[in-house]
Amino acid sequence: MERYDQHVHSAYSFDSKERLEDECEAALQKGLQGITFTEHFSVDPLDVSYGVLRYDAYRQAVTDCQDKYRGRLHIGCGLEIGEPHLKKCEADLKQAVQSMQLDFIIGSIHNIGSVKLRNFQKGKTKDEIYTQYFQEILMMAETADIDVIGHLDLAKRYAFEVVGNYDFSEYRDRIAKILSVVIDRGLGIEINTSGWRNSVGVCYPSPEVIRLYHDLGGRYITISSDAHKNEDIASSWDRARQVLLEAGFDQYFYYEDRKPHAVSLRNETE
Ligand SMILES: [Zn+2]
Ligand SMILES: [Zn+2]
Repeated sequence: MERYDQHVHSAYSFDSKERLEDECEAALQKGLQGITFTEHFSVDPLDVSYGVLRYDAYRQAVTDCQDKYRGRLHIGCGLEIGEPHLKKCEADLKQAVQSMQLDFIIGSIHNIGSVKLRNFQKGKTKDEIYTQYFQEILMMAETADIDVIGHLDLAKRYAFEVVGNYDFSEYRDRIAKILSVVIDRGLGIEINTSGWRNSVGVCYPSPEVIRLYHDLGGRYITISSDAHKNEDIASSWDRARQVLLEAGFDQYFYYEDRKPHAVSLRNETE
């Protein structure tokens, strides 16, 4: 079975110090067939990522790694764009993305109205936090030019310590609406294993959401460590695979030139 990790950050993101080449070495050591770099990107001046990504240097560094590891490791050049649906950023973002050569775009909600999730939740009830977060995800799913939705229920990461995790049954209909839009638009979601490394202790989104996505007809799903350090590359990869198999998936995907490619989740002997 081929293992791809589709969500990795390097020093081209504001919150990582790793060199691409070291991460490629780590990926090989962990037995991966491929990784995709997905550096943080935003055209919102209020976002922490604004102005950080030096695209030309990043693209060149990825190309150098592709040359060096050709035949040994498949390497993708991607972005994780924060709030790609914001109207005020629409024209700037479109122009920026058009000028780049990208394999993959993750759309993520890290802020609500340019306010970080951790601050946004202050003084709000549990229901306000999750309802507004999922509303923002829905707006992104409806309009943004992305390939997959990143960590679809990330709100629980910060809300967990204050108001607790959400009860899936209470938000099932809202989440089903988001997933229906994802499916109708030919987008995908990721299973992001970083939740198992955070205090919330469960992947993003939770296994119930992944099962619902499958049952609604969802097909495109990627496996993502969201590593910001070498040692986290491919973390909990087999656990993620197990969640996907239990949800009914036989395959997952990696993206090249922004097109999905299916990879079997089964071993040849299974
Ligand atoms: Zn993220
Ligand atoms: Zn990330």
